[in-house]
Amino acid sequence: MVKIALGAGHGINTAGKRTPDGEREWSFNNKVLLACAAKLNKYQDVQILRLDDPTGNTDVPLTTRTNKANAWKADALVSIHHNAFDGKWGSHGGVETLVQEIIASKASKDNAAIIQPRIVQAMGLRDRGVKSKNNHMTRVSNMPAILTEGGFMDSTIDIDALRNDAKLKVQGEAIADGLAEYFKLKLKVAGTPASPKEDEELKFSSPALKLETETSLASKAHRQIIVAAAVKEGAHSSWADKLANNTLTDADVLGLAVKYTIAVNK
Ligand SMILES: [Zn+2]
Repeated sequence: MVKIALGAGHGINTAGKRTPDGEREWSFNNKVLLACAAKLNKYQDVQILRLDDPTGNTDVPLTTRTNKANAWKADALVSIHHNAFDGKWGSHGGVETLVQEIIASKASKDNAAIIQPRIVQAMGLRDRGVKSKNNHMTRVSNMPAILTEGGFMDSTIDIDALRNDAKLKVQGEAIADGLAEYFKLKLKVAGTPASPKEDEELKFSSPALKLETETSLASKAHRQIIVAAAVKEGAHSSWADKLANNTLTDADVLGLAVKYTIAVNK
């Protein structure tokens, strides 16, 4: 069993931790954490402990967070953050992953080296690399610990990615997949996500099915329900992106419904 402690940095009302337009860092961090936890749950033999307040209302003190992770004997800790330079919009930007200066274990550095490029790719932002810094979460925790900064909240370049929920989701999944690589986790058999190619290879156009369901599929909300249910059942998350981009055809929706046995006539 691999025990992963995850924390979304700060609380929703923590002073200063926001974009120049007032969006909260915790909200970005929380979206990444939820996606990370959901993806980790697709792997076998993983336990997750959340270190921050899931409602965001309380900014759980850092000592409480590290006490919790240490007492639980986590195998790894990831503190999820988004960066700020001076709180004013600027053209700086990029992703960095922090390990504790001087005392970081090899395991911490290895985790950071695996996860940093994955976050860079997920967000499509500049690679600022793995950095050694002094901060509580990586200093006081007893297990391999990293602190991720998935882009700058006050960057006119990065903010587009931060405002893109699909990218934050992919960032969370990237962290989970990096941890899975480090710990050599195996996907659960039932939860193994199908690749989009695999889905596309199915016969997604069935005229009979289309006739029966075209009325219900006209509802955008209903299409969303079907796609969300399919992704939950293991369909690739890019289907949700296709829905968001309006590039999903009725045949796609029906195909997903058939493959993942989701009722379409709700
Ligand atoms: Zn932060």
